[in-house]
Amino acid sequence: MHQVQLAGLTVDTRHAIGGERVASAETFESVSPIDGAVLARIARGGAAEVDAAVAAARAAFPAWRDLGPRGRGAILHRLADLVERDLEQLAQLETLDNGALLRSHRRGVMPRVAHNLRFFADWAVDELHHEPFETRGHTNSISWDPSGVAALITPWNAPLMLATWKIGPALAAGDTVVLKPAEWTPLSASYFADLAAEAGVPAGVFNVVQGYGAEAGAALVAHPGIARISFTGSVPTAKSIARAAADNLTPVSFELGGKSPLIVTDDADLDLAVELAVEQYDNAGQVCLSGTRLLVHEAVAEEFAARFAEAAARLRQGDPREESTQIGPQIHRVHLDRVAGFVARATAEGARVVVGGGANDELGGLYFRPTLLADAAPGSEILTAEVFGPVLTMQTFSSDAEALELANGTEFGLAAVVVCGDRARAERLTKNLVAGTIWVNCFFVRDLRAPFGGSKKSGVGREGGTWSFDFYADVKNTVYAPSGWKE
Ligand code: NAD
Repeated sequence: MHQVQLAGLTVDTRHAIGGERVASAETFESVSPIDGAVLARIARGGAAEVDAAVAAARAAFPAWRDLGPRGRGAILHRLADLVERDLEQLAQLETLDNGALLRSHRRGVMPRVAHNLRFFADWAVDELHHEPFETRGHTNSISWDPSGVAALITPWNAPLMLATWKIGPALAAGDTVVLKPAEWTPLSASYFADLAAEAGVPAGVFNVVQGYGAEAGAALVAHPGIARISFTGSVPTAKSIARAAADNLTPVSFELGGKSPLIVTDDADLDLAVELAVEQYDNAGQVCLSGTRLLVHEAVAEEFAARFAEAAARLRQGDPREESTQIGPQIHRVHLDRVAGFVARATAEGARVVVGGGANDELGGLYFRPTLLADAAPGSEILTAEVFGPVLTMQTFSSDAEALELANGTEFGLAAVVVCGDRARAERLTKNLVAGTIWVNCFFVRDLRAPFGGSKKSGVGREGGTWSFDFYADVKNTVYAPSGWKE
C-alpha cells in the first residue's frame, strides 16, 4: 500500500526518517504531466514529521562528522555507483513525474546527479585546503568544519539534479540532511533515500520529508535545530523563508528565478544566434537560467526574427518519452494557466505574437506552444516578470549602451547570453552585465568548479567548488603561536 511500481522501480511513498519509512495520516497525489495519470499517493508531512527528521539528523551528526572526508567520500561514491546502476529507471521515473525529456534525463541530467555526488566527495578530500600563512610569526590554519543539519528545499523543474547539487556538498562537508522535495515531483527523492541506505549512508544522515511548502517546508525552515537552509525556488517563497530563518539567524543560500537576456549584436553569427535562442525553450521553458529576453540589434532584427520563426516552427512538441520530441508539457495545470495568463495579458496590452501564443490544441493536456512575443510595452509585466514557460520576448537596440540598459533593467541577475562576433566588444558587454553566469557564443556549459548563483533578486550566495563548502561548513581560523610548547 505504501509502495508503487513505476518505471521498473519500487518507490516508497512515505517519508524517510532515521533509516525508517514513516507514514502520515494524510496523503497527496503525484500526477504525471504527460497524460494526467495519478502516479502515487504521497505522505503529506507537517511539523511532527519535520521534528522527527531533524531529531534523527541531529542524532546522526556526530558520527557522520567524525567519519571525515575520506570515509564520507567512499560512501558518496557508492551512492553515485547506484545512481549509475539505476540510471535508465531513474530517468524514466523523473520523466513520468515532471514531464522533462527522457533523452535529456538519460544523457544529461541523471549522469549529472552521479557527478554531483562524486565531484563534491572528491573536492572535500583533494581541494578543500588553504595554505597556512604567517602573522608576526604565528601560523593561521583554515578549516571547514561540519556545521550540523542542513535543510534542503528544492523545486520541480529538475528535481533530483537540483537536490543532489545540495545533497552532494552538504554530506561531503559532514552535515546531515533533511530534504523537502517539491510536492509536484516527490518520486525521485523518495527512491534516492533507498539508494542512500543501500550505499551505506548511516540511518539519520539523509532524511526526506514529503509534503506541501506551506506545511512541511515552512515547519522545516523555522526549526531551531537546523544549521543551514539551502533553497532553490521562487522569489516569494525565498522571502518567506528568509523571514522564518531570521528568528534563529539560520544562514541561507538562495538560488532563485531569472529573466535573463540573450543579446545578439549586429556582427553576430546569425545561425548561431538563432540556434542558441531556440535552445532557450529547453525543458519547455521551465529553466531558471533561460535567456528569455531576446535583445537583438535593430540592423539584424528582421532577419533574425524570420529565421527564428522558421526554426521554432520546426520544433517537435509531444510526449517527452519519444526520442524525437524537443518540447514536452508544462508541469501542472496550475502552472500552464499561469503561463497562459502572462501571454494573454501581454497581448491584451499590445504585444504581437510572432510564434505560438497559446496551448497546443492538437496535443491537449498541458502542452503550451513555443512562443515569441514582440513589441511589448517597455516596463510591462512580460518584459520584467519570470514566466517559467516556453515564452520568449524580443526587443531591439541600436547601441551596446542601450543593450546593457535593457539587459540589466530587471530585478533579476541570474544569467546572460551574448552572441557577438568581436571578442573585445563581447568583453566590454560582459564586464557591464549584472549576472551570476554569462555565456558568450554558447549556452549551458557548466563546470562544478565554477561559482553558480544569482545577483540582485536571483539569489543569495554562490555554490560550486569551495563556495559550496563555505556555505555548508563552519569555516574556522586557528592561530598557532610559535612558542608555548613543552618540548
Ligand atoms: P517554489 O518557490 O514555489 O517552490 C520551491 C520549493 O519550496 C518547493 O519544494 C515548495 O514546496 C517549497 N516551499 C513553498 N513554500 C514554502 C514555504 N513557505 N516554506 C518553505 N518551503 C516552501 O518554486 P517552484 O515553482 O517549485 O520552482 C520554480 C522557481 O524556482 C522559479 O522561480 C525558478 O526560476 C526557480 N529555480 C531556480 C534555480 C536556480 O538555480 N537559480 C533552479 C531551478 C528553479
